[in-house]
Amino acid sequence: MTTELPPSTPDAEEKQLCLSCLTPNHLANHFCAKCGAPLTSYAATAPFESIFAEGSVYRQAAERPHKFIIVLGIWLIFGGMALGGLAITGFSLADQDRVHSIFGALFGLGLIIFSGLIIRKTTRNYLARKRTNEQAPDS
Ligand SMILES: [Zn+2]
Repeated sequence: MTTELPPSTPDAEEKQLCLSCLTPNHLANHFCAKCGAPLTSYAATAPFESIFAEGSVYRQAAERPHKFIIVLGIWLIFGGMALGGLAITGFSLADQDRVHSIFGALFGLGLIIFSGLIIRKTTRNYLARKRTNEQAPDS
């Protein structure tokens, strides 16, 4: 299975202007290099990721998970978070108060989905990177 990557053109003239500060950015950028505003629909539709993209620790872990231990750490942290979300959802649904029940369950589900997305992204990046390294060990 091959992932669709745009051909690398180092001297490409094509730039996209940031709508916030009008700085020209590389087309590959999801976020403006100057002000951090989302440039692509990907960035705009991934609010959680755009928040966390600012954090260098998460960015290192999720974007370039080159060590298995990092992937394992992400699994432990966000796996625990997902379990917490599951527990919150369960307890909330058991709550007699309907408002507590609904909002608690929604919060728990959000936690599960959020954790799952991060785990999935990190794992996928790790596997993709591993595959790339195996195909081209000298790169
Ligand atoms: Zn900008």
